[in-house]
Amino acid sequence: MTQSRMSGASGEAPIIVAQDVHKHFGSFHALRGVNLSVQPREVVVVIGPSGSGKSTFIRTLNALDPHDGGEITVDGIPLNGKGNMDAIRREVGMVFQSFNLFPHLSVLENITLAPIRVRKTSKADADARGMELLRRVGIEEQAHKYPAQLSGGQQQRVAIARALAMDPKIMLFDEPTSALDPEMIKEVLDVMKELARSGMTMLVVTHEMGFAREVADRILFFDHGNIVEDTTPDEFYNNPQHERAKAFLSKIL
Ligand code: ADP
Ligand code: MG
Repeated sequence: MTQSRMSGASGEAPIIVAQDVHKHFGSFHALRGVNLSVQPREVVVVIGPSGSGKSTFIRTLNALDPHDGGEITVDGIPLNGKGNMDAIRREVGMVFQSFNLFPHLSVLENITLAPIRVRKTSKADADARGMELLRRVGIEEQAHKYPAQLSGGQQQRVAIARALAMDPKIMLFDEPTSALDPEMIKEVLDVMKELARSGMTMLVVTHEMGFAREVADRILFFDHGNIVEDTTPDEFYNNPQHERAKAFLSKIL
């Protein structure tokens, strides 16, 4: 367990701080004053009913969707829409339910594109690092294939490798296994477990309870645009406090 909720007890500054974060879509109030502090190397699993704001919240953390009230600071960088978006996106990798690979690029090219274009890494260095990442996610032999030639589980591992190629300090996952056939879920979760063990700071929206119990330092339960429970996996599963969390657990367990 990390020092998570004893924020600052480790003496380290939090790597993510969200204070009273709001987000509207037109007249719809999607995030309603979210507060969160995440320590470096913490693994945070985010759960909650559909439409509760989980995706909206994690998308605000790399400024994919700008928030419209409150403050977010990522690794000391304020997300205020004033030209620091590139810096934020370099710090924060994101993996989606739909793998979002570039179909016309090979697996390796998918991984090296951003390092070459954004980081100005040489092609040789980017290729070497790309192959190393493909080995890490267990699919180096697929390097020269195209995404459509891969299984869903393999494509998602490419998406993870692609995000890691920018050397992010934080990885966000939005239901990374929800689009996968059951037999492919484990291979993706295994990569995520290894990443967690390596010390990556992670926020993971997932309903994979085995993963949450094994890997999470902390569970956030979202409801109606806010975090209504912020606790350890043991506490959450054995003794949920909030009515909505109890109802949610009774449906999925
Ligand atoms: P979750 O990921 O928890 O299922 P979301 O964060 O995707 O929920 O959505 C929260 C709410 O915000 C939902 O009611 C959804 O319909 C609404 N919402 C999300 N994105 C948009 C958008 N781009 N435009 C309008 N409404 C949106
Ligand atoms: Mg979602």
